[in-house]
Parts: sequence; structure tokens; C-alpha cells
Amino acid sequence: MIHESPQSTILTPSSSSLQARQDPLMASPSQEDYTRTLLSAPPPRPSPRRTPSLLLLLTFISFFSSLAFPLLFLSSSSTTQSLARCSLSVLRRPTVILISVDGFRYGYQFKCPTPNIHHLISNGTEAVPGLVPVFPTLTFPNHYSIVTGLYPESHGIINNFFIDPISCDAFSKRRHEPRWWLGEPLWETVSNQGFKAAAYTGRLEVSKAVDDVLSYFDLPIDEIPSYVALYFEELDSKGHEFAYDHPEITKAVARIDTMIGRLIASLESRGIFEDVSIILVGDHGMVGTCDQRLIFLDDLSPWIKIPQNWVHCYSPLLAIQSPVNISVAAVVATLNQGLSSGKVENGQHLRVYMKEDLPERDEGHKVVRKRPMSNVCGGDHGYDNALLSMRSIFVAHGPQFERGRKVQPFENVQIYNLITSILGLKGVPNNVFSTFPDYILLSDN
Ligand SMILES: [Zn+2]
Repeated sequence: MIHESPQSTILTPSSSSLQARQDPLMASPSQEDYTRTLLSAPPPRPSPRRTPSLLLLLTFISFFSSLAFPLLFLSSSSTTQSLARCSLSVLRRPTVILISVDGFRYGYQFKCPTPNIHHLISNGTEAVPGLVPVFPTLTFPNHYSIVTGLYPESHGIINNFFIDPISCDAFSKRRHEPRWWLGEPLWETVSNQGFKAAAYTGRLEVSKAVDDVLSYFDLPIDEIPSYVALYFEELDSKGHEFAYDHPEITKAVARIDTMIGRLIASLESRGIFEDVSIILVGDHGMVGTCDQRLIFLDDLSPWIKIPQNWVHCYSPLLAIQSPVNISVAAVVATLNQGLSSGKVENGQHLRVYMKEDLPERDEGHKVVRKRPMSNVCGGDHGYDNALLSMRSIFVAHGPQFERGRKVQPFENVQIYNLITSILGLKGVPNNVFSTFPDYILLSDN
């Protein structure tokens, strides 16, 4: 992710994001494919705002770097091309239900019996091991990448909270003003082309949300929405509150599975389960952050005092904006001096970089202001999107998905094109290859 700053800048490239744009999505696409993608890149946008001047401190744990997977955009061994998609038996046009489960880390589906998720897996297509989030691996940047096909630097939602350095306006995830949200989300693409879309977000009770979605399928057949999005938040909040192996997380996974079972059974009772494409994804993973993985900003006070109002975000991606009259380079140098002194607890796991010095990959400890009064043991996300712990799930079932197929992990920005292809819509230009749906969907002959 690249933030232009009025001052000299500290940038955080999402190296895997950059790699995904420079590298073939699948095995050796032709030069023609690559050129076509470049040509279909979005035109330069007028800048409605400058991105914040962020001094981003990346934390990392050296032993964890062995888990940093390179992105594997390789062709699947499946012989999709030889199989044809199924035709619709009841519905008149394709319909997609996108279920997003916040914080569904890849592997949660094995924490307890999840027969309904596994029904979708064994009769559909699954990314193994998991769906790759964009960086930073946070909820709002990732959900908006899923529905726009844009990386955060393009769609503008670079964090759950940030400040426009020009207007000093603050974006927070609770603000819904359109000016912050660039690009065209799926529901707009669907409705702009004359079809119906519905999205359920927020903290709806699971059963209520599922009931509302199912009620759409009782409408006259021509009024059934083409695209329905469902969002569930509970698993993320349990993941933050409890450590990875806590029974509360297992129970939340079981509740998600029950919800999916109810959805499947209800669609089956209407005779349309095989007609509807169900895509189950998460936005990011989760990793445990117990006491020994904390870094305290106050420990750096002998070298530099970071006032509260410099800090946009603490963790896991500490984001600091210093005043214009203070040199960013000097701040970086002073912070690193303190961190390398051996006197800051876990200081060896935190490095501060100027943009030009940023390494390819980092991962992190959690940065907090003060030592907590009691033990802190929970979870967090936001770290390097190449980490396996940050991966989520991709499971898709429907007439255009091959049964029992496993595909290599891919970035969630591909999902916009995937859904517009299923629906037969013309998607707006975005940041990714337009050929991805051909790779993952069954052909139509
Ligand atoms: Zn979260």
C-alpha cells in the first residue's frame, strides 16, 4: 500500500499486492493477457483527498517469517475446461449469495465438526490453504477489496481508521459518507445493470439475517435479487477476545456452520439450492497476541515521546503522523535508536522504515501504549497478508463451480470479477486480471 505524504514518507507497500499485479495470476499468462489487463486498469482518478501522512511502524517476529508463504498463483491441476457448468432448473438467471464471516481464519473449519461447510467444500470449489487477504489485513480494507476488485490504495479504505492530512477529517469504520469510498462495489454494478441486489451488514442476529435472505427467495421469480451479501461479525469479536484455541471460538464456528446448514436446507426445500451460487469467504485470519508479544510505546519515552494525537492506530500496524515541522527521518532514526538499545521490551521485533528502505515482508507483535494491569491474551489481525495465520477461507458451491475441486490460494480482490462473471454482468475495470474467472469457473459448453 502506498501513501503519498506531504512530508518525506514512510510507506507500507503490500509486497504481495504489488507482486500480484506484476506477476502472472496463473501460470504464464500470455503477453496479450497481461497487456489486456494493463489496458483495462482504471483510469487515473481525481483525488478527492490526499491519503494520510502516515508513519507506519511495522513489527515483526523473526521466527514467524518461516510461515510467510509466497503467493502461489499457479494453475490448478483440475481439468475444469473439460467440464461444463450446470444449467439452472428453477431460477431464470444466476444468483449469488456471498457470505462473509469476519475473522474466519483458514483452519477454523477443522476446529469442530462443520458438516455444512464441508458439504459445500466436497460439492464445490475450495482454495487450499485459504484465501489471501489484502494488506493491511483488516476488516474494512478487505471487505471493500472483495466487493470492488481494488486494492486499498485504489479504493481508498486504507485502514479501519485514518485521517486526511489536508482536511484533517477522520475516517472511521462507522462513517458511511460516499466520498471516502472509491470504486464501484458489487451491489452498484448489479443494480446499474438493471438487477436487484441486497446486502446485510452489521451485527444482525445470525438467524434473523438468514431469515431475511431466505424471504427474498419467496418473491416472484423475476424479483429475486441476483446478488445477496451476508456479513457475520461474531467470530471476529470472539477471536479478539479469546486466544486461538479457546472453546468460545469453537462454539462460534459451530454456530456459523449451523447457519449455513439452515440456509442450505431452506434453499433445498425451495428446490433452488443447486441453482444458487453460494460463496463463503472471510476477510482475514487471526493470530494469538498474549503478553509476551506486546510492545509498549511508553517504553520509548527516554528517546522520544509520542503524543497521543500523533497516533492514528496502535496495532498491529502502528500508524503515526508527526506534525509538519518535525522531520519524519529524525523521528524514524530516534525510534530505531531506542528500539535497538536493548532496553525496550520486545524492541528487537519492531523496526521503523522510511519508504525507500522498506523490506519486502514483515510481520508483527502488537503495539500498545502502556502495560496492561492484567494479563492480555486474545487475538488480532492486520499483519502481513502473506502469513498463513492471516488467511481466510474461500468455499464456493453452485452451478458454475466444479465439485470437489481444490484451487491454489488467491487474493480476495479476484472475487469481484468472479461474481460479475457468474452473473453475466460487465464489471468495471479494477486492479486484477480479467481472466481469473475463466480459471475458476466451469465453462458454459
Ligand atoms: Zn477484527
